[in-house]
Amino acid sequence: MNIIVHIWHWLLTVTGTAIPDGGSNWYNFWSGFGSDFGEVAILGSLVALYKHHNCSVKGCPRIGRHAVAGTPYLTCHRHATLAVHKQLHDDHKRKFPDQHELLNQDEPA
Ligand SMILES: [Zn+2]
Repeated sequence: MNIIVHIWHWLLTVTGTAIPDGGSNWYNFWSGFGSDFGEVAILGSLVALYKHHNCSVKGCPRIGRHAVAGTPYLTCHRHATLAVHKQLHDDHKRKFPDQHELLNQDEPA
């Protein structure tokens, strides 16, 4: 039981929620550990932005700029070939048949 009390005290100290006598409520938390929430949100949004614009070929780290016709996929300059685009088009047709049909309504079945 003693170890749990020590761990709890350590957690309160690290997060800044152990308020000393005369200290203001939550000041240590928001000026210390709590101020990192904004930085985590910024890093998360940068990762999401990169993943949204990343090349659709698995494992490729480049930014995709070439749209694959009939799909929401993008490829980088290196993967902007007919063979790769055809492969991605077929993959999209197999993985998302309803969306593929919606995006390719003018294509003969
Ligand atoms: Zn690529």
